[in-house]
Amino acid sequence: MRVAVAGFAHESNTFASQPTTLEDFSIHFGEQVLDRHADTYHEIAGYIIAAADEDMQLLPILSANATPAGPVTAAAYNEIAGQILSGLSELGPVDGVLLALHGAMVVDGIPHGDAETVRRVRAQLGEDVPIVVTHDYHANVPPELIEDADALVIYKTNPHIDQRERGMQAASILARTIRGEIRPTMHLVKPEVVFNIYFHNTSASPMQPLMQDAIRLEQQPGILAASIAAGYQYADVDWMGPAVVVVTDSDADLAVTEAVRLGEAVWAIRQQLILDVPTPAAAVEEAIASDRRPTTLLDFGDNIGGGAAGDSTFVLEQLLEQEADGWVVTIWDPAAAQQCVDAGIGVAVALTVGGKTDSEHGSPLRIEGFVRTLSDGVYEEFERRHGGARRHKQGVTAVVRVPCGTGGGLLVLNSSRESPNSIHQITSVGIAPQQQKILAAKGAIAPRAAYEPVSPHLIEVDSGGACWIGRGPSSYERARTHLYEWTIPPKTGDNT
Ligand SMILES: [Zn+2]
Repeated sequence: MRVAVAGFAHESNTFASQPTTLEDFSIHFGEQVLDRHADTYHEIAGYIIAAADEDMQLLPILSANATPAGPVTAAAYNEIAGQILSGLSELGPVDGVLLALHGAMVVDGIPHGDAETVRRVRAQLGEDVPIVVTHDYHANVPPELIEDADALVIYKTNPHIDQRERGMQAASILARTIRGEIRPTMHLVKPEVVFNIYFHNTSASPMQPLMQDAIRLEQQPGILAASIAAGYQYADVDWMGPAVVVVTDSDADLAVTEAVRLGEAVWAIRQQLILDVPTPAAAVEEAIASDRRPTTLLDFGDNIGGGAAGDSTFVLEQLLEQEADGWVVTIWDPAAAQQCVDAGIGVAVALTVGGKTDSEHGSPLRIEGFVRTLSDGVYEEFERRHGGARRHKQGVTAVVRVPCGTGGGLLVLNSSRESPNSIHQITSVGIAPQQQKILAAKGAIAPRAAYEPVSPHLIEVDSGGACWIGRGPSSYERARTHLYEWTIPPKTGDNT
């Protein structure tokens, strides 16, 4: 079995000011794709494991990935999608295709970039070659994708720690399809609710019981995959919102029945989706008073993994104003990091940090302190963490000791926007998390896998920024406008 593999992943925040260009993508070609992923927890690692079991030859074309930010430029998209298509041509006849796509990519002029990628691959290969797709849990799945793919498998965890297993599942579905053992058919349901990111944790209610239901469903005969995507609320696109996708073995009625049933279960929890989250001022006050140390502040508004800037100052401003001590805050600020490099270790510095990307993420703050450590910003994560990656680079990184309160805080200034998915982002620059009182992580649910093991108390913060959780209906122009009318029942997608 000759199976082409491509990965093309971006979560695009249409409220973020920075477009995502070709230069932002890290792209690997050919065998490098397998080499880079083999020892990770990414779904491509799952493809590799299943391929060995299924006696399937993987033919990697490329994998492209960029840190979430604003929509992908048309030029970048066409270049990468074009390389996937030309790679497919060069491979000659293949028996199937595995595509690792995020599901919430927005391209300038193309609201659903991933569906467009599948459409182009399908158009080139024709109807007879099976295409199996894996998606992130934050996918905004449109009906078009369901029409063009043979099967879709979506992560079941957030933080995303089951990517490898979903890759194995997808590759196994493809292998069995190629051998003629199964004929996947699937159905999509789009519950008409905005599923706020605050409720996306799959280890907590209301999401956990829904996901358990999907997991139980997958044990039933004839069900090949049962997925619930929470959707991605920071993309103002036609099909923004949660999705239920049930894939069965040639039983369209079963796919419809079960997808509708799960969709109704998602719809039924809508009244539980009421936000009650402290402001940065209240959250910092609570963290200072807490005796469970360290307390982690989850900076939802500056969620780097959701496309926010990474240089928001709202939480730092409050820590300084309330004279907290024993804190650690990471800010993406290449210029300030370079200033520290120029000054050198132990030297006093006066810096203007953060709030430089746009006006959404707070004002730049004037900071005085001492350079504590300097680093090349490279670190490795061996554990199973959100995103499944092993090798990380946050660029040149300086830690500045900032006198504050009765002691001081540690300001980490890095040069590359890196979501705090690994605790080694701070341990690698000489910070012992357990010795701190307050940690701040610029993310929503994703950092939990890294921070829960070292922090007994996490506080979600309703901070401003491109990933502000309070964004209301008036900020959407394209997303289905009736999403916010709670009386409308779920509808089935128009395709099986
Ligand atoms: Zn995600």
